[in-house]
Amino acid sequence: MADNLSAADRLAVLAAKLAAGSIRRLNLGLGSNLPGRIARKLSPTVLKNLSAQSDKGVIAVTGTNGKSTTSGILSSIMRSAGFTFAHNRQGANLVTGITATMVETADWTGKIRADLCLFEIDEAALPLVAREVQIGTIVVTNLFRDQLDRFGELDTTSRLITSGIDINKSQAILNADDPNVAQMAVDGKRTFFGIESLNASEADAAPAAQSQSELAYCSKCQEEVNYSRVYYGQLGHWYCPKCQHKRPVPTVSANNVAVSATSSHFNLILDGREFECILPLPGLFNVYNALAAAAAAHSLGISYLAIQSGLKDYSTLFGRSEKIVIDGKTIMVQLIKNPAGASQAVASCVKDEKARLLIAINDNLADGRDISWLWDADFEQLARGKAPIIVSGQRAQDMAVRMKYAGVDQSLISTDPHLANALKHGIDSLGPGETLWLMPTYTCLLELQKIFKSMGHAMSGT
Ligand SMILES: [Zn+2]
Repeated sequence: MADNLSAADRLAVLAAKLAAGSIRRLNLGLGSNLPGRIARKLSPTVLKNLSAQSDKGVIAVTGTNGKSTTSGILSSIMRSAGFTFAHNRQGANLVTGITATMVETADWTGKIRADLCLFEIDEAALPLVAREVQIGTIVVTNLFRDQLDRFGELDTTSRLITSGIDINKSQAILNADDPNVAQMAVDGKRTFFGIESLNASEADAAPAAQSQSELAYCSKCQEEVNYSRVYYGQLGHWYCPKCQHKRPVPTVSANNVAVSATSSHFNLILDGREFECILPLPGLFNVYNALAAAAAAHSLGISYLAIQSGLKDYSTLFGRSEKIVIDGKTIMVQLIKNPAGASQAVASCVKDEKARLLIAINDNLADGRDISWLWDADFEQLARGKAPIIVSGQRAQDMAVRMKYAGVDQSLISTDPHLANALKHGIDSLGPGETLWLMPTYTCLLELQKIFKSMGHAMSGT
């Protein structure tokens, strides 16, 4: 595609690239936003004109949970299919971070050599980006209430995403099983993904219908929706008891889903064809991420085989189900930041009979100051097990109290607010075949990254 770069755009790219280089040389941190800010200052059209150069256009991933993993899995699939692409993989998902990614992808003259741009975009930033960038396809993973959302922010977020979709009349790829997502963008072009069935043993362990932990409502008549099948949170086969509005039938779906402590197996159904897939990630939430990525890949015309091998070859992102082996001892790291994600992480952990657990909670700004969400996460699952649990971080004491109320045997819990000590204790106590499950909030994860580095192990985000 011919480029439409103005002289100002070219100057902006040049200046931002020089700035990014200096930031790197002076070791001033990742520099994932500042070059974007500089470029935008020099040319407000820079993002628009840079992103317009990719042949297959722009695909965006948004939603409360799973944006990074979904775009990571989609990258893996696109690599299998031989695509080249720009991707804001450091999770700088606001407009400046996305601009910085495009500057980095461009050469010094502003030329982009990529088939496609893949942007992970914060829900609130989507309309801003959509006003500048012609986004062809928008994937919405899910819409969970988080700790800040006691007072209707979910509706605001839903409206922001819908307006982001409307701006370019983008194709929307939506989670059929999440009533908060499936009822969005009703006037546009929509494709759905969802889970059709779990395998027999999983289905036994699934929560009974009507026991969903989050309320959701029918967009047509505002009645609370019911479920014939619940997977977790408000995700499942939902229907409105009053007006018969219900979960749309997904065109990309998974049958016979089985999740182990470290991976998931399912039959992927595309165009009525069914084929077996392995994903090296545990948890139903990751099966949804895989389905979202598969649906997006399918919309790009990527083959079944490339989707299958992209799923199989996916290697984890920083702190998202990342496996680390130190001196033959296995550590599984799963970032937790809200009730739904934490409940799913715990669900994976309790499947591992040889698990030990370290939960690290901070309440810095990047973690969310309000830690009351810990009370909404299903830590009660841990009461059934015998896994020793260390609680750490600035709010270790609060977490210890939470464990007590979850019904965990007190003799299994130890408290050590000092994260490096807690980690050492956790690793030292591992017996043969045992895994240390690490569940940190975001700033604990950053701290762990440094601790691992000092032990000579780089995590994938580094
Ligand atoms: Zn209804």
